[in-house]
Amino acid sequence: MPPPVFRFAPSSNGFLHLGHAYSALLNFESARARGGRLLLRIEDIDATRCRAEFEAAIYEDLGWLGIAWETPVRRQSDHFADYRAALDRLAALGLLYPSFESRAEIAALVKAREADGVWPRDPDGVPLYPGAAKSLPDEERERRLRSGAPFALRLDMDAACRVAGDLAWTERGCGPDGETGDVVARPKAWGDVILARKDTPTSYHLSVVIDDALQGITDVVRGQDLFWSTAVHRLLQNILDLPRPVYRHHDLICDGAGKKLSKSSEATGLRELRARGMTAEEVRRLIGLP
Ligand code: GLU
Repeated sequence: MPPPVFRFAPSSNGFLHLGHAYSALLNFESARARGGRLLLRIEDIDATRCRAEFEAAIYEDLGWLGIAWETPVRRQSDHFADYRAALDRLAALGLLYPSFESRAEIAALVKAREADGVWPRDPDGVPLYPGAAKSLPDEERERRLRSGAPFALRLDMDAACRVAGDLAWTERGCGPDGETGDVVARPKAWGDVILARKDTPTSYHLSVVIDDALQGITDVVRGQDLFWSTAVHRLLQNILDLPRPVYRHHDLICDGAGKKLSKSSEATGLRELRARGMTAEEVRRLIGLP
């Protein structure tokens, strides 16, 4: 049996905090306990927010925690061609369409729909795409693309679900309501998700699925905030013929007010804690690790 392969996949859009430390240490220790490997991936597709300075800080903070990972590190912005190839496959299956509305136009459409009743939201609480770009006449779609109008490439969720059929994933951790074991994937809850934009030729959902496959990841250990996203990941894995890792979603480290930590919560940033004299051992104890 080849050894299991784990990964820690932070975004380089800020400094790491206690929540990242928890996730990284769980990955590191699970890999060690099972004779496996730990890979690191820098998720930096958002060129407006990700910075080399944050990436350097990630290496420093993980090293300080005593975590060791294999090199080379996979940096997503070096691999846009891989994501492009996956988009081409989805397009060839007729599963993508461009939508041209701005954020403000989408917000106005949602408001109009909500005036008529409840408009569904995705598991993160974001309203589903309310536009009609899927049924735009071909010539009009071509005209807009030729004009250079900005667009987002969306997955035709109904069509994708017809291709994939029923899906489930193996959960070794649990979801927010204790879901565990074989969990039924419900990708339709996300609507026609964006898989790429004109200027960023990928998205979180697409790149995470491609990279987990290319890196040979067998075990995805990550925060429970991504539990329901796994449905979209299973769908894309199925359509793109990619292997399915096993998932373990772990509980989130929260602040004193019970809210999920964010990269701007300075009080729990690893650099701040280190500057205040805290040791890596004390960080472990703080987040409840033995
Ligand atoms: N890059 C994501 C984050 O920092 C994690 C992605 C994943 O583990 O699937 O939240």
